[in-house]
This record gives sequence, C-alpha cells and structure tokens, in this order.
Amino acid sequence: MSTRSLSLDDRLYDYLLAHCPPEHPELQGLRAATAELSAWKMQIAPEQGHFMRLLIELTGAKRALEVGTFTGYSALATALSLPDDGQIICCDVSEEFTSVGQPFWERAGVAHKIDLRLAPALETLDALLAEGNAGAFDFMFIDADKENYGAYYERGLDLLRAGGLIAVDNVLWGGSVANPDKQDEETQAIRALNDRLAADARVSLSMVPIGDGLTLARKR
Ligand code: CA
Repeated sequence: MSTRSLSLDDRLYDYLLAHCPPEHPELQGLRAATAELSAWKMQIAPEQGHFMRLLIELTGAKRALEVGTFTGYSALATALSLPDDGQIICCDVSEEFTSVGQPFWERAGVAHKIDLRLAPALETLDALLAEGNAGAFDFMFIDADKENYGAYYERGLDLLRAGGLIAVDNVLWGGSVANPDKQDEETQAIRALNDRLAADARVSLSMVPIGDGLTLARKR
C-alpha cells in the first residue's frame, strides 16, 4: 500500500500497459510511424491516450480544441471518442509533423471531425474568440511551446463553457519543475503556470502524475 502516487518501475509500468484496453489499430500504427522520427518523445504515452479518451467521454465533449498536434496521436485519440458530429480544432505550425498523422485519421474514419489549423496557435485562438466562440468549447488539450502556456490557458478559459475541461501536458517536465538547477525558459514557464493554477479560483484542479504530468482544470 502507498499513501502517495507510486513511481512506476519497468515491471509495474508493463503491468499497467497490459491492463489498458487494446489500442485502436490506427493509434498503434501512428505510434509506430512516429517512433521513426527523432522528435518521437513529443508524443503522449499510450496510457495517457486512454485517459484522454475517457475524459472526452466523461465530459460529453462535442467541441474540442488542441494546441500542439505534432503527428496527431492525441488528436486521433480525441476524435475517436468524440460523437460523429463532434469536432476538434487542432492548432500547430508544422505541416511536416501533422502530415504524418493525416493518413491515420483518414483510415480511422474520423478525419471529418479534425479541423487542422496550420498557424501560430494564439492567432487561431484569438480568431475563434473574435468570431464569437467564447464559451463554445467543451474540452481543450494544451501541449505546445511551453513559453506560451500561460497565454494558451487564458484563451482556453475564455473559449470553454462553464464545466468545460482544460488538460495541460508536461506539467512535471521530466522532474525539472522541482529541480532548482533548472532555470531555462521552458521550465520557468511551466513552473509559473503551475503556481498560477494552484491559486486560480476560476477552476477546480487536479495535477495528475500520468505521462509527464497532466493538469486537469475544470472551468467553474
Ligand atoms: Ca507533451
């Protein structure tokens, strides 16, 4: 028994993976295709994919937002769990990376739910707000350049309905957030957002030690 979150050694992690439901074949294929790339570590872990799919179901999300799509694994996981008339707007600047995922989105039969916007995410989020979409979204996943995390979060709170959920990835940042020797800009930006969120009365919050750390913030 443990009264704190367990750290997972390889044996326990393998056990956890073995007790996740089967990974959708196109998610499995996209994971393999992404593993060929040097930036493969930017992809979320399979158990986190399952967790996010459950979050989409729990929130009954129909309209979702993603900031930082990379090769499209989390977008595919989200789209698979959205209803058929649901939609995820994906913000990314890389045509190279996002194009890796698109054939998998097509083959999984969910490409019609994924609206990829190739532009700096703040431009896309501001345009959505200017077009009258405040309060129109149910779910948001933030997993992009860490320096802009605070700005993405604020736009997200405006775009989400009350009761909507923001999931912020990499909040433990490989342990760097708690290491005083780490003072680079990305680490400081994540720390600043973590500090801010812990005191943010606009949301209910839980920092979940899954993957590289995932903060869940439910808009009140
Ligand atoms: Ca990430």
